[in-house]
Amino acid sequence: MTNGRIVKVAGPLIVAENMADSKMYDVVKVSREGLIGEIIELRGDKASIQVYEETSGLGVGEEVVSTGEPLSVELAPGLIESIFDGIQRPLVKMRDLSGGRIGRGLRVDALDHDRKWDFVPTVKVGDTVTAGDVLGIVKENTLIEHKILVPNGIKGKVLSVESGKKTIVDEIALIETDAGKRSVQMLQKWPVRRPRPIKEKMSPYMPMVTGQRVIDTLFPVAKGGVAAVPGPFGSGKTVVQHQLAKWADADIIVYIGCGERGNEMTDVLNEFPSLVDPKSGEPLMKRTVLIANTSDMPVAAREASIYTGITIAEYFRDMGYNVAIMADSTSRWAEALREMSGRLEEMPGEEGYPAYLSSRLAEFYERAGMVKVLGTEDTIGSITAIGAVSPPGGDLSEPVSQATLRIVKVFWGLSAQLAYKRHFPAVDWLTSYSLYSDRLNEWFDENVDADWEKQRTAAMRILQEEASLDEIVRLVGMDALSQEDRLTMETAKAIREDYLHQNAFHEVDTYASLQKQFKMLRLILLSDELARDALQQRVDIEDILALPVREEIGRSKYIPESEMEKFDVIERNLKDSMAALISEGEI
Ligand code: ADP
Ligand code: MG
Repeated sequence: MTNGRIVKVAGPLIVAENMADSKMYDVVKVSREGLIGEIIELRGDKASIQVYEETSGLGVGEEVVSTGEPLSVELAPGLIESIFDGIQRPLVKMRDLSGGRIGRGLRVDALDHDRKWDFVPTVKVGDTVTAGDVLGIVKENTLIEHKILVPNGIKGKVLSVESGKKTIVDEIALIETDAGKRSVQMLQKWPVRRPRPIKEKMSPYMPMVTGQRVIDTLFPVAKGGVAAVPGPFGSGKTVVQHQLAKWADADIIVYIGCGERGNEMTDVLNEFPSLVDPKSGEPLMKRTVLIANTSDMPVAAREASIYTGITIAEYFRDMGYNVAIMADSTSRWAEALREMSGRLEEMPGEEGYPAYLSSRLAEFYERAGMVKVLGTEDTIGSITAIGAVSPPGGDLSEPVSQATLRIVKVFWGLSAQLAYKRHFPAVDWLTSYSLYSDRLNEWFDENVDADWEKQRTAAMRILQEEASLDEIVRLVGMDALSQEDRLTMETAKAIREDYLHQNAFHEVDTYASLQKQFKMLRLILLSDELARDALQQRVDIEDILALPVREEIGRSKYIPESEMEKFDVIERNLKDSMAALISEGEI
């Protein structure tokens, strides 16, 4: 292959000529330092290349060599607990080698090629296997069994398979295929911009349980679903993403951080490794892959990071795992796309974003889903994708929010007003939605309680009634309301403050099981129902509101999961004290 020559350097973008032999999206090595770049436009023999490393000092005339390969990631044991940059360079190792900032042109394998893993085969000589079948297992750590899959395009009879300590580049099996003998190692490479193949996409039907009441009860996301968390600065996007990483019932977490503020990624890098997985008591990192774009990294790497992340997520999905991928924030990613587009001198669309912004976003979210994975058995795996969006000033009419909202099926709209009032999570119950609700309500009714959907509908109705009563109160004052309407306002307040409000930093309140969510809401709604009966029997609303049991209901969020019987005690107490009020009135 002939070498190209740089003819122009514009920040992270360079243009090289004599590149006619190369293809779109080929990875290239730039200059004698071998900086990594990717071809993002080809015109005649001129290639525009986004460079994933600092380009200062590069000059016209320096050489550019295409590798002939697309940007790919390494997939094998060693992924879990890793922290990568946007093109899967291992950050910790890079920093150790270069001290502080990442050195230019530094070449390090994404995964450790020397480390030995204990490979335990699950197939034997003579078995027939096909792409996606499990060849064996590596216990990557105390939480994760890494399944070694037959690589794509391979089908045939196992000629040999070896157990024992193996590196990811050692041969573990030999397979007789139509095209001859194929040696298989644990390491697979996959181009990040191409979705990994599946057998069939299914429609999601079960929730990804998050333990966050406003999410699970009002706006649930399905396993395999896609959700967005838009909100202005400080409204709690990052806290929501962290809560999901900690508590969602996903096997594997892929967390892509695109720092909002200069030091925010440094916070993530310091904070994530110290998070504890509440379910196992082990470090959360033991089921996490972290991709970090710090602000000192070139924008091009940020552009690549969401593809790197989703490819890793697909790889674990293919093992039959439920994976959750979070991107915080996709707005920073979109800005990288905009910057590269500007450098290419493309025709700018709305607010300078390229016209392909929506299709790129869609390409990312479409790789989520619940699927039948490749392989002989009908194994199911899922990727649930949650993207934070940070519209400037919180104005959702801007292009990134608009494009995202057209794709995702769950919208958790964070409100500046709620955050200002310290109502967290600041999910606005009047504007948020989940298009999975109907489907998932069936699941909740079957698996939690037959009244789940009924309760959810009642709670939503009361919140909506509150919004219209609020209007009346603003116009004519509280006194104009009937006792029934006042009760509605009080119940809505209880739903908001006692139920939806959830403190991420409180030991008990941070997570509520579906059972607990159901029981909490039941107390609030039962209290409303009994109070309404009492009003009919001419009990005064003030006497109802003064009942001490109302306080107990308000504090029920602090009841630990191990003391669920306390809910029954409160319920009895509620019924008794309401009955007492009514009989007092009759005397
Ligand atoms: P954003 O990412 O939208 O800029 P953050 O997630 O950093 O906002 O949240 C800002 C602050 O809001 C947090 O530092 C925390 O004090 C508070 N906060 C957000 N969500 C919660 C929550 N669920 N419980 C308690 N505090 C919260
Ligand atoms: Mg944030």
